[in-house]
Amino acid sequence: MASTPPSHGQPHRTPPQQHGHVIPRHPRLDPLADRYAARTHGMKTSEIRALFSVVSRPEVVSLAGGMPAVTALPLDAVGSMIGELVSGMGAQTLQYGSGQGDPRLRERICDVMALEGITDASPSEVVVTVGSQQGLDLVTRVFCDPGDVILAEGPSYVGALGVFQAAEARVRHVPMDDDGLIPEALEQALIECRANGDRVKFLYTVPNYHNPGGVTLSEPRRQAIVDIADRYDLLVIEDNPYGLLGFDREPMRALRARDAQRVIYLGSFSKTFSPGLRVGWVLAPLAVREKLVLATEAQVLCPPSLTQYAVARYLDTQPWREQIKLFTELYRERRDATLESLDALMPPGTTWTRPDGGFYVWLKLPNGLDSKLMQPRAVNAHVAYVPGIGFYADGSGREYMRLSYCYPEPDQIREGVRRLARVIEAELDL
Ligand code: PMP
Repeated sequence: MASTPPSHGQPHRTPPQQHGHVIPRHPRLDPLADRYAARTHGMKTSEIRALFSVVSRPEVVSLAGGMPAVTALPLDAVGSMIGELVSGMGAQTLQYGSGQGDPRLRERICDVMALEGITDASPSEVVVTVGSQQGLDLVTRVFCDPGDVILAEGPSYVGALGVFQAAEARVRHVPMDDDGLIPEALEQALIECRANGDRVKFLYTVPNYHNPGGVTLSEPRRQAIVDIADRYDLLVIEDNPYGLLGFDREPMRALRARDAQRVIYLGSFSKTFSPGLRVGWVLAPLAVREKLVLATEAQVLCPPSLTQYAVARYLDTQPWREQIKLFTELYRERRDATLESLDALMPPGTTWTRPDGGFYVWLKLPNGLDSKLMQPRAVNAHVAYVPGIGFYADGSGREYMRLSYCYPEPDQIREGVRRLARVIEAELDL
């Protein structure tokens, strides 16, 4: 492995530091500034959303956003399927539905999870959500009070950090290496949290093709983490949107397949079908499921009927496994273009992960270069990436960046990496 994300030793006693674009609070800029709830004070634009205006410029090669390659879907077939759904099923497709989600879709979700070894899931334990992002929010609302501690990989998915921050929970990062989360480091963190009297609510982990780390939790570590969870009575949130997007192997067995009581599983159709439909799910023990349904009813009443029916019909009538294979072939080609270009062009001392699935490479700059400070020069050179600090709750990660290969064509990727290598070389010469 080329890169080991850094360890962050001490638990955080204060709320996460702010960076990025914080919402203005000065009364002259915003007359309601002194009325907002405390939880809004740390809300900020994510490093990714802050880049939107830059990456939409045609001259910029964006290795920033994690947008799935939806143009590879059979758009005409999907369009006709949705049209027929409305004409065939009628008004029901345009009506409110159950808070827990469509029963037929929940059955099909159980079939999808069986591909990762979850064979005992019942549709009654599934809650359909507006993407797994809403699932993350629901689980956090149900479990976390302000000041509670969440253990999460360092680095972690930026959207999860946003949810944890909005709940005023404190994130303590646990380091990863090439084989994913390090079990010994998890145990150490738990021991230290106990000694501090911290209320640890759960471990949040992305075991497959990590966002942004690009690494996958190895088979032995999966068991080790489930064993630690058992010993320390730790709840685990397994966030798994990329599990079926492996390039060289069958899907790995989920943590949830090893422990049905301690592991709450989050799934999504955003990467295997379409992110625009916003359909995800949570699989949780019945008592937790009850709370999740109450929380989702308070938030959105019910998930959208039309898109749930669309996903269920897609799974029933379209060759979705072949489509996933097509997606992975396309992503594999883009991963290859990325790694070959990095190998050929990056200056010595630069290191990066070598993903075998998913969307992301995590790159470490040489000589302590700062990816956030370097960003304006990269944008001038017409290449975009996401600075590493967005993926830490504590402001660290400056020498890292996330590169996404899911969206640009291989030739654009090669050009983007060439531009990036030149920018890094110029920084080293300063
Ligand atoms: N978890 C992870 C790790 C992700 O990368 C993403 C999307 N980038 C999500 C959750 C949310 O995805 P969605 O809401 O589209 O299902």
